[in-house]
Amino acid sequence: MQFYHSKLLNSLTGLTHAFTTKYSGNLAFHVGDNPLTVEANHERLAQKLQYKKETLIHMEQIHSCDVSIVTKEDNFHMPRTCDALVTNKKNTPLMVMVADCSPILFYDKINKVIAVAHAGRQGAFKNIVHNTIFKMTHNFNTKAENILVSVGASIGVCCYEVGEEIYKEAMELRLGFCIEKREDSYYLNIHKILKKQLLACGILSTHIDISHECTKCNSNIYYSYRAKQKTGRFAGIIFLN
Ligand SMILES: [Zn+2]
Repeated sequence: MQFYHSKLLNSLTGLTHAFTTKYSGNLAFHVGDNPLTVEANHERLAQKLQYKKETLIHMEQIHSCDVSIVTKEDNFHMPRTCDALVTNKKNTPLMVMVADCSPILFYDKINKVIAVAHAGRQGAFKNIVHNTIFKMTHNFNTKAENILVSVGASIGVCCYEVGEEIYKEAMELRLGFCIEKREDSYYLNIHKILKKQLLACGILSTHIDISHECTKCNSNIYYSYRAKQKTGRFAGIIFLN
């Protein structure tokens, strides 16, 4: 499989989006691959999705809940340190890279604003979803009910075992609903957290599309950190055109 497309974002005019798979190769520069190989993977992807590689904005992701609005200073070669990006600029592809964390794409269909966010356990616990939507509503006059949200493949509750510490942290954050106990182990359901946070922000349930493909169960298709610690990254990408 080359790409996964969300049924919510598919065939909208003026918008291109995709979630890559291993077919597109590793897109991250920080995992030890030859940078020329990574750059070539980016070039191929850009040609396939019809944008100029140099216009792509990606991030140095740090599991924070920091959201940046794209500026003239942002460019392909100097990714900004943050975990979400927002823009209303045309032909400015935004990319989030993952291997088990959730890649989230946002689209305000009325004001034509896009965003991407990276939500692993920390991003979900810190509610990066809320911060991203807040940036859209505050800076671009977006109304939550106009936002479509697509979450790509990420690690499922089937495979996301966590220890006692994380269980306790979840309970303290009133996120007990996201913990599944099986035998003597705890498993975390990130999708449940994201869904609840999105609804709390005013996103309509019919505007939320969460892929339930587990990256670890499908590590032949997607990069998965829990399947193999030294691994590449696949990506969620979205742009206005
Ligand atoms: Zn799984």
